[in-house]
Amino acid sequence: MNTKDDLCPICGAALLTEIGLSGRVQFVACPTCGEYGLTDEALWALQTLQAEDKAKISACLREQNIRGDDPVALFREHHPDRHLEFPVRTVQEIISTFPPTVSDRLDRALKNLHKCSNTLKALIR
Ligand SMILES: [Zn+2]
Repeated sequence: MNTKDDLCPICGAALLTEIGLSGRVQFVACPTCGEYGLTDEALWALQTLQAEDKAKISACLREQNIRGDDPVALFREHHPDRHLEFPVRTVQEIISTFPPTVSDRLDRALKNLHKCSNTLKALIR
C-alpha cells in the first residue's frame, strides 16, 4: 500500500502504523480508526469518497476495535470464491450499514462508551 506520508486514508490521522501483510491486504493501525486491512483497490475507492462517507467508515472500524472484533479487511468488491482468514467488508457495504437515524447512532455510541469504561469515573479517550 502506498499511503501519503503514512496518513490514514480514511480519517487522515497521522502515525499510521503498518502491522502486517496478508496476500494483497496491508493491515495498519490508526490512532482513530483502530486496526484494519486495506487492498490497493479499496485505497483507490476511498480516494473518491466524500468526507462524510469516510467518517462513517472510520466510525464503523473504531466500533469493531472497541468490541474487540478481529480487524476487518476493506475490499473494493467481494470475491465470493476466495476464503480468507479475516473478516472482509466492502467500502460500500460499510457505508450502507451505517445507522441512518440519530437515535440509532446515539444508541451505538452509548454502547461503545459502555465498552470503554469500567467505572462511572473512568476517563474515556
Ligand atoms: Zn484512521
